[in-house]
Amino acid sequence: MDTIDCRFCSGAMEAVAVHKFNRHFGVVFIILGALFAISMVGLLLGVILLALGVYIVTSKKSVWVCKSCRTTLERIEDRGGSTS
Ligand SMILES: [Zn+2]
Repeated sequence: MDTIDCRFCSGAMEAVAVHKFNRHFGVVFIILGALFAISMVGLLLGVILLALGVYIVTSKKSVWVCKSCRTTLERIEDRGGSTS
């Protein structure tokens, strides 16, 4: 596993998986979805909101985090050059 140097303090950066979205949004979606589903106001809408909430809460992305200054850097997934 390769590592990169921090551009600010030259410290070692490590790859960390963080949540892609604000988790509070996901929790709100799940609560709203559950309420809709339970109250039968909109079962389908509730299920959609629930699914969306679960997706938001579980979605993760990889970033580089500096161990020294806590700077975070988006990891660019370079998957070009697929020769099949
Ligand atoms: Zn740093």
